[in-house]
Amino acid sequence: MNMDAAPFLTVREIVMDFGGIRALDKMSLDLSRGDVKCIIGPNGCGKSTLFNVISGDLDPTSGQVFFMGEATTGLSPQKICRKGIARKFQIPSVFDDLTVAENIEIAITAATKHYTPFSLLRGGPDRSNYELVLAETRLLEYRGKLASELPHGIRQQLEIALLVVTDAQLLLLDEPTAGMTEEETDAIVHMIQDVRDRLGVAVLVIEHDMSFVRKLSSPIIVMMKGAVLREGEYADISNDAEIRQAYLGDSE
Ligand code: ADP
Ligand code: MG
Repeated sequence: MNMDAAPFLTVREIVMDFGGIRALDKMSLDLSRGDVKCIIGPNGCGKSTLFNVISGDLDPTSGQVFFMGEATTGLSPQKICRKGIARKFQIPSVFDDLTVAENIEIAITAATKHYTPFSLLRGGPDRSNYELVLAETRLLEYRGKLASELPHGIRQQLEIALLVVTDAQLLLLDEPTAGMTEEETDAIVHMIQDVRDRLGVAVLVIEHDMSFVRKLSSPIIVMMKGAVLREGEYADISNDAEIRQAYLGDSE
């Protein structure tokens, strides 16, 4: 099977109804292997719901998601996770009483237990990712520290690292810089660029903070009322009169 021939991620005309509320209204997007894209849009426009559908936490009312050539709609979150889609929840999945290094070891061990013929083909969880992630982030200097002692920003980096070492191909990050200082935010920007450039990991990131979006300098998808309003580079999006008025509040 030639995996590269199939599109990496395709979200096709997803509709998600919650009772009378249509949270997603024919939402579609494409992502290539190793691509980073940013998703922005007003509160309640369906961003987190989109992630819930991609991760399998929600079954859409209609439409389909394809990951590396396979339909994933209707699969359990665990199955989708094992295919290489890793979701970072706002609630941390870090063990507080363990050190940074121990947390990473556990994530690798857990991932190894979920070997499938497919992950074996890819070589399984790659321990070299662990060294790379540590070396490329400030986590290295914190490796012996308990997770409970980490500054907020470093803890968020640890969470992303935990996803990466499990051999994820696609990371879903929902507002990863919420509550962070500018320096911590910059570290997350660099980490995302690094996992893309050095590991070829694709990232979809939902973000409110426009300075984060600008620094990441990746294509931006603007959502509105459960669908794509516009897709483009930061310069196009930030100069678009309709978006400025509807979303940015014309404040920049
Ligand atoms: P965003 O992340 O863009 O702020 P959400 O995807 O969280 O938006 O929500 C989109 C819409 O769907 C909102 O109107 C929200 O109230 C509704 N919604 C989201 N999740 C649920 C749910 N589990 N049950 C009912 N309504 C929901
Ligand atoms: Mg949300």
